[in-house]
Amino acid sequence: MPSLHEERITDTEVLARHQMSTYARPPVLFERGRGSWLWDQDERRYLDFTSGIAVNALGHCDPELVRVISDQAARLSHASNLFHTEAASLLARELCAVSFAEGVFFCNSGAEANEAAVKIARKHARIVHGSGKDEIVAFRGGFHGRTAAALALTDRESYQAPFRPLMPGVGFAPFNDLEAATAVIGPRTCAVFVEPVQGEGGVQVAKPEFLRRLREVCDRHGALLIFDEVQSGLGRTGRLWAYQHFGVEPHLMTLAKALGGGLPLGAVLAAPEAAETLQAGDHATTFGGGPVPCQAARVVLSRVAEPEFLDHINAMGHLLRHRLGETDIEIRGLGLMLGIELDRGVQPLIDRAREKGLLVLSAGPKVLRLLPPLNVRADEVDHAVEILTEILRMGSEPC
Ligand code: PLP
Repeated sequence: MPSLHEERITDTEVLARHQMSTYARPPVLFERGRGSWLWDQDERRYLDFTSGIAVNALGHCDPELVRVISDQAARLSHASNLFHTEAASLLARELCAVSFAEGVFFCNSGAEANEAAVKIARKHARIVHGSGKDEIVAFRGGFHGRTAAALALTDRESYQAPFRPLMPGVGFAPFNDLEAATAVIGPRTCAVFVEPVQGEGGVQVAKPEFLRRLREVCDRHGALLIFDEVQSGLGRTGRLWAYQHFGVEPHLMTLAKALGGGLPLGAVLAAPEAAETLQAGDHATTFGGGPVPCQAARVVLSRVAEPEFLDHINAMGHLLRHRLGETDIEIRGLGLMLGIELDRGVQPLIDRAREKGLLVLSAGPKVLRLLPPLNVRADEVDHAVEILTEILRMGSEPC
């Protein structure tokens, strides 16, 4: 019998046999990663332009991250939220120092951060305005997660249908349509959830005027404006926070993905007026804000917030757009959060790219999404462009 660390799976069918079929995974098994690259069990190398869906901002197995994570795991890996730990306290202070926020709640994922934001918004409205102000407005094409409340805010019929009834009190408005949003937001609205750059919904960038006026409408009605920066935050768009592109600050911002450097960590950042809404006993999580992911997040934040690092993200984003633009492809997005609108289904192209050693994502049925590591190198961008140009040129010809 091999030891726990030595056991290997060679039969691809075994990979899926005892896991619920929640993902349509290809028959590839990744064994290790380094920088922008992943290696499968057969030592085949793949250039990873998914970054684990915007998680691996510093690439795979960044040496500083590995060292800090190992050191913290060897010192203290969990003490529970019954007690203070240094890593969470320091990270909260650092997040507030580089954002609009005054208070932070830590959890484990993006959906969980949005669940907490829903609770903060509902309680905030109750304290400030009394009962009857509990409705939430979200946007068409938006994605906020798969847990119960987050799913109710996520505009995708196929995601919601099997699980109805969902959390009541949610209304949707078209994205980037201020008039329609203004018609839905009213005195009963306690929160407006919006992604400054919609990720899963096709890499759609908000219009600055849309977000600015949303803030005004929220202020007028005493509703909290909540930016979901789970995907767009932490440098992904070329600014530390996507909201900095638009000249508008939210009342709450939710984060996850890149925050924990590959470990599960989510957060809700709150402006002063909402930072004390949740009090002892209102909300909790066993694992959220553990010392190991918080120490990892401190590494990510300190590196990504550096002006030279943000310059690098913008330079690589421009290079990618420029090189792909030479092929007459329409590209949208900001920084290294890019989408290519196709005239056909995207999945065959994703499969072809993988066969050629490049990992890319979809964002809806016809959008190819690129989320390379934020420290991707120019020669890696060139390599990805070569493969992308080839597969896009192949058009709808069969493989
Ligand atoms: N919000 C946004 C904008 C996301 O892109 C995602 C995940 O893709 C989520 C929330 C949900 O995050 P998680 O999968 O960590 O629950």
